Formats: sequence, C-alpha cells, structure tokens
Amino acid sequence: MNNFFNYSKDDLTKLFTEAGKNKFLATQIYEWVYQKKVYDIDCFSNVKKENREYLKNNFSFDFIKIEKVEEDTDVKKFLFRLLDGQKIEAVLMYHDYGKSICISSQVGCNMGCRFCESGRLKKVRDLQTFEMVEQIILVSSYIQDRIDSVVIMGIGEPFDNYDNIINFLKVINDPKSLAIGARHITISTCGIVPKIREFADFPLQVNLAISLHAPSDEIRKSIMPIANAYSLKEIMDAVDYYYDKTSRRVTIEYIMLKGINDSEKQANMLADLLHGKNLYVNLIPYNETNNLNFKASDKKQIDIFYDILKRRGIDVTVRRKFGTKISAACGQLRSKEM
Ligand code: SAH
Repeated sequence: MNNFFNYSKDDLTKLFTEAGKNKFLATQIYEWVYQKKVYDIDCFSNVKKENREYLKNNFSFDFIKIEKVEEDTDVKKFLFRLLDGQKIEAVLMYHDYGKSICISSQVGCNMGCRFCESGRLKKVRDLQTFEMVEQIILVSSYIQDRIDSVVIMGIGEPFDNYDNIINFLKVINDPKSLAIGARHITISTCGIVPKIREFADFPLQVNLAISLHAPSDEIRKSIMPIANAYSLKEIMDAVDYYYDKTSRRVTIEYIMLKGINDSEKQANMLADLLHGKNLYVNLIPYNETNNLNFKASDKKQIDIFYDILKRRGIDVTVRRKFGTKISAACGQLRSKEM
C-alpha cells in the first residue's frame, strides 16, 4: 500500500497503463483529489467499481496531522505529527506578494550547523514525498486559501533527501495538482556540491539558494561542518556550472552573526568572492535561539555590511524577519516539544 501523494501524474499514468487501465484514470483521480479534495475512493463517482477496488487495494490517503499552531499577525507556525509519531514543522508567511510556506524535508538534520536549532537533533529519517506534499495541503486547508509559493528551508537538508525532493517538485508543480509554479519554489541547500551539479540538469525552473554564511573556508568550517567536505571554491565552481546550464541566478544566503561573520573586512571578503558572478545575496537577520554562542548582528552592522556589498556592485537584499514572538527559527518549535 502506497500513499497516493507520493505519485506524480506521470508515474501514476505509467502505473495504470502497466496495470492495463485507461490512461485517463490518472487525470480523473487527480481531479477528485487535488481539485475537489475528495479522499474517499468510494466517492469517485465517475470511476468504475472495478477501478475503485483496484485503487483501494493499492493506494492509501493517510494524512499526517497538525498537532499545534502558533499564530502571529503575519506568520503561522505548524507542528505536525507524522504517522510514526515523529514531529516536523512548517511556517506560513504572509508577504505583500502572497503567501509562502516553508516546509521541512527531513525529521532532524545531520548537517550540524552550529547556529541552527534543527541540527541539535540528529536526523531520524528522510521525509517521503507525501509527507512534504501534505504539509502544503493541510496548511492550505487550515487557512482555507491557496498558497502561492513554497520554500524548502524548514528542518532538514533537501539535497540529503534528493530523490524524494525531485519527486515532490514534480508533484506540486503539476498544473492539475497544487499548481505551484516552478519560479515560486525555492530549494535551499547548505552546499552539497555534487547535488548542486546534478540539480543543474533538472528541467523545472525552480530557484536554488545556497547557505554560504561565511566569506572564507576558515570561518565557514567553524560554523558549518559541511565546509570540511566542500570548499568555497568548489561551491562557487558548482554555482558557475549551474548558471551555465540553467541561466538561473542562484541566491546566496548569509546569516548575520554578531562578531563572527559581520565585520567590514568580512563584507569585503564576501564581495571579492562573489565579484563578477551573476548572483543575488540575501542577508538574513539571525533568529536567536537558546544557544548563547550566537547573537544576531545589530541592525546598524547589517546596514554597514549591506552598503559595502552594494557599493561593490553585488545585488543584495536584507530578509524580512518573521515570527520572532512565536519561536519561528528553523527547528525551534520541534526542539521545544522534544
Ligand atoms: N539545510 C538547508 C535548508 C534548511 S535551513 C540549508 O542549509 O540551506 C534554511 C536556512 O535557515 C539556512 O540558510 C539556515 O542556515 C538558516 N537558519 C538556520 N537557523 C537559523 C536561525 N536561527 N536564524 C536564521 N536563519 C537560520
């Protein structure tokens, strides 16, 4: 028995064709499930009884559950309980340009970034495609509204769960399912170089963001263990390769950590590293956690850092801060619960 939300329409069509079914069956069922939001196979009234039996024997529509919601004016945070009792979280944000959801890709994370709350709890397992799709369906149904964009920046390292992520992108992008446009989807990685290269061949126009967070290997190694596996040079080469193949501009994420990576010298080092590349830098105000080793940079220091990059011709923005009142830092809700 396999969860229905694991299947892209192409995979479903292939499965049905192999089982000797009419290939339109996939379209019919997609319509019941994604358009009409009917999950009881007995209610698929235009599907023959024989095919309904076949569906019942092969697919489940089991849902993960919303266990807790924390709400603020411009943000809602959801804690989910998975079928095996594990917990993950998602965050819904209200922007001027629409609603975006930040979803989790794994239960826990093995990347161990020192400043990150998620990494304090090691990876228990990868999320299956359906567990990612259902985060969107459940939040959308909770707010009774469509969600415009999806960022994969919650708990987990998406490129450490590559196949399920690729399948997830195919499922949610389908115009007959959730119809989330590829340009409205952003996948964020801590910089797993071989997967950045592999992702360059993925045909959908999904946005890629890289958590760089440091202007030198030395600083990066002190806050992100993954830097011991891949150097900044290897990351920048992979980014160039990605741009050559896709013509899509990569976003460089840079958390502003007080006294660690936010000096004027470091801004210039970052500008040297990124100079001449067609990239976009997003400076991220740090959400402070219980970890007292890391403090958020002062607003003034962020402005100085921003100005230096700008002056050096780097395309840069400062990310808006959401949900400080409700522990919206990545992984905070889950770690509080455990
Ligand atoms: N593993 C992926 C995606 C999940 S983390 C990645 O590393 O990109 C999403 C982003 O949130 C990353 O840039 C991460 O470094 C950042 N992040 C983690 N903890 C944070 C915090 N307390 N405040 C602000 N950003 C944080």
